[in-house]
Amino acid sequence: MEKFDLVVIGAGPGGYVAAIRSAQLGMKVAVIEKRKGLGGTCLNVGCIPSKALLDSSELYHQAKASFATHGIDVPDVGLNFEQMMKRKEDVVNTTVGGIDYLFKKNGITRFEGLGSFVDANTIHISGEQDLDIQADKVLIATGSEPTELPFLKFDGENIISSTEALSLKEVPKHLIVVGGGVIGLEIGSVYKRLGADVTVVEFLPKIVPSMDEEIGKQLQKSLQKLKVKFKLSHGVTGATVTEDGVLVQAKDKKGKEVEFKGDKVLVAVGRRANTDGLNLDAVGIKTDQRGCIEVSNLRTEVPNIWAIGDVVAGPMLAHKAEEEGVAAIEMMMGQKPHIDYNLIPGVVYTWPEAASVGKTEAQLKEEEIPYKKGMFPFKASGRARAAEESEGLIKVLAHEETDELLGVHMLGPRCADLITEAVVAMEYKASAEDIARICHPHPTYSEAVKEAALAATEDRAIHI
Ligand code: NAD
Repeated sequence: MEKFDLVVIGAGPGGYVAAIRSAQLGMKVAVIEKRKGLGGTCLNVGCIPSKALLDSSELYHQAKASFATHGIDVPDVGLNFEQMMKRKEDVVNTTVGGIDYLFKKNGITRFEGLGSFVDANTIHISGEQDLDIQADKVLIATGSEPTELPFLKFDGENIISSTEALSLKEVPKHLIVVGGGVIGLEIGSVYKRLGADVTVVEFLPKIVPSMDEEIGKQLQKSLQKLKVKFKLSHGVTGATVTEDGVLVQAKDKKGKEVEFKGDKVLVAVGRRANTDGLNLDAVGIKTDQRGCIEVSNLRTEVPNIWAIGDVVAGPMLAHKAEEEGVAAIEMMMGQKPHIDYNLIPGVVYTWPEAASVGKTEAQLKEEEIPYKKGMFPFKASGRARAAEESEGLIKVLAHEETDELLGVHMLGPRCADLITEAVVAMEYKASAEDIARICHPHPTYSEAVKEAALAATEDRAIHI
């Protein structure tokens, strides 16, 4: 039986990054992955294909909606949906192929199949051929999969998850999105731009509930401008597939029953940790109420078995999984890495993009932390006006007495990238004044971060 220093189960962003880090530190490492392609949900059916479609659909929308303002006349803008999907596939294949290359470069052994525990040091792989391998240490990085509602089961055709939604053959006429979270809004905005009617049915009175409320409201307004319809405070209770589509049943906050008619229903109500088939019982590893593997400092109760990413508690984000993957490996090797979970940024890749890091205003109020806030709207930014991208704002929250940055929340052009400045600043415990005193290049969107920081520093913004 072949023996490895480390066996990683799952080759998503958590698992593959951990495998590379372990190889860098001299471990003999194997990765078991059930998919043909490496990269997990993120590369195959998540972040990468959705961003490819978000970018293509935004370009199509701009060609139709704002090229004329720039003085570019394109009279017959047409949609070649097949080509759009093909480009997305090409992007996925190239990206997945890149991980193959990285595995070879780092001498990582790859097994295709489903990994399950025989005991704490033996993993069985069932795939094209069945075999057992030996591991000194094991890292579980099996990720998550879309949650199904018991009364709204995926049928892959009319009632679909994000996986099918990223590979449709044609643009739906009316897409009903159940859940106003990240997936629902990103995919909903793709199909809205491509011409579908889109109705988002959300149980709570607001969308993206984990984001700062003000940013969530602005995001909703921005999507409403795109003509996405919102039915908030509506809990979906079931659906009936009919000859020409689907009827979705929901109850509003007063308990009144309502129905929505569409031809596809995207169910995006969260994801669940994927521990199926791991045979955790063989090693005595427990899962919590949400099905996540219990860990302390990324280590399970079994000393040589570690777990990271979506399969453990915390935000289900690729970059969180990557950080945990690297940290777990470094801890295995006796190093002392540190992850600040307060500083894991969140992004919604609509256009404009929403991004945030640190505490929201609601959290600061709840925790009774005294704070001050500075806001700067993109409409006051010359760079944003030059680009016809002046929707949105940046909000900086700083401690009332010490001026330490506590949270930064934004909606606007390229905010997914702009948020990194706030993450770096907060990692170094910067104050709002620190950001305000740093020279930002002109003209850039990043000046809006400086202006919002100035606004938080004794209301000193220059351009408003
Ligand atoms: P989510 O948790 O972000 O949102 C789910 C929403 O569904 C919630 O607002 C919830 O109130 C609502 N809901 C639940 N039951 C409902 C019902 N019966 N009727 C109506 N609404 C209902 O989940 P998601 O959007 O599916 O995303 C899953 C995970 O994937 C999240 O952790 C997310 O962060 C992650 N993800 C992140 C990105 C990104 O970083 N850009 C992109 C995609 C997914």
